[in-house]
Amino acid sequence: MNADPRSFAAAIRSDAQAKADEQFARSATPTFTCIIPALNEAKNLACLIPKLNDVLRTIVTQYSILVIDDGSTDDTTAVAIALADTYPVRVLQLSRNFGKESAIVAGLDHADTDIVMLMDADCQHPVELVPVFYAYWQQGYDMVYGVCCDRSDESAIKRRFTKWFYSVLSRTASIPIVPNAGDFRLFDRRVVEALRALPERTRFMKGLYCWVGFRSIGVPYRPALRHAGKSQFTFRCLFKLALNGLTSFTDMPLKIWSAIGFAVAMLSTIYGVFIGVRTLIFGIDVPGWATLTVAVTFLGGLQLFSIGVLGEYIGRIFSEVKQRPVYLVGRYFNLAPQNPVVQRNQIRR
Ligand code: UDP
Ligand code: MG
Repeated sequence: MNADPRSFAAAIRSDAQAKADEQFARSATPTFTCIIPALNEAKNLACLIPKLNDVLRTIVTQYSILVIDDGSTDDTTAVAIALADTYPVRVLQLSRNFGKESAIVAGLDHADTDIVMLMDADCQHPVELVPVFYAYWQQGYDMVYGVCCDRSDESAIKRRFTKWFYSVLSRTASIPIVPNAGDFRLFDRRVVEALRALPERTRFMKGLYCWVGFRSIGVPYRPALRHAGKSQFTFRCLFKLALNGLTSFTDMPLKIWSAIGFAVAMLSTIYGVFIGVRTLIFGIDVPGWATLTVAVTFLGGLQLFSIGVLGEYIGRIFSEVKQRPVYLVGRYFNLAPQNPVVQRNQIRR
């Protein structure tokens, strides 16, 4: 029997396509978790959760809202637990404040659903966009992220700093990192699994979302004004976050010092030759202490600065080597305990 090779190849292709479609098919009744990292957000949760619940129940049937209390000193956990009487709320209280990035990791470790969404607790992320994000997921996108297109509510200095940070990062990072795309995101389960499998302790999530890849799309949004309280991100926190971002995604600051060292060595060689020739022709005129002092202090400063840059990287290596967990859980409510530390170590082996 002589089969036509073309129809045989077409059959293999359609079989492979069918298998791929089956693998990536979207469930018609997906399960959904919305993670909300919260630090002192009692007032905001009481406003956000009813609104979010109204939206979620129109798009999915099985969903829950997972509040990660990141070491709040107000009634955040108590308010979230009280809301659980009316809404499908679960609570994970961390043992102290570990920072937003760690709170997100904790949320991702405890969300075993088809879709996972991240939202801030302060009502700045518009809940009306959740159905839009979901529609993109249904179309086959694995990650849908909000792109902040208006920062007029932020101070001029914060806006400038953010712009500068993204421009440095986009020029130097080893992978393209989408500017102004923060933690307002929806993930398919596969992305969550990929993020969970990353073993590093110092996490710059905005970079890691891009690093894992997958089929992604951005949706522009205008953040609302904070409902209550004020931003937890002081200038110091932002600076630390930016430094984490730069050191996690580029080694350019280390390489720059090779270039500067080379340039300074070349300049001093040229200057040395110039002095030598001048002394041979004109003899010794002035002792040159000023030149010496400037050169010594300048080079000393340059060396200290470069040691500081090295220190930033070594400090990060040190914290990775210690292998401390990214977060510790204080209390679970409506939630099955997981052991993310063991999970992560198993993945690494
Ligand atoms: N957040 C957190 N841990 C922190 C700082 C902030 O879980 O250490 C939460 C905070 O409660 C909010 C979200 O992260 O839900 C964004 O924080 P914020 O509104 O202060 O940041 P901004 O909107 O200024 O970027
Ligand atoms: Mg905010």
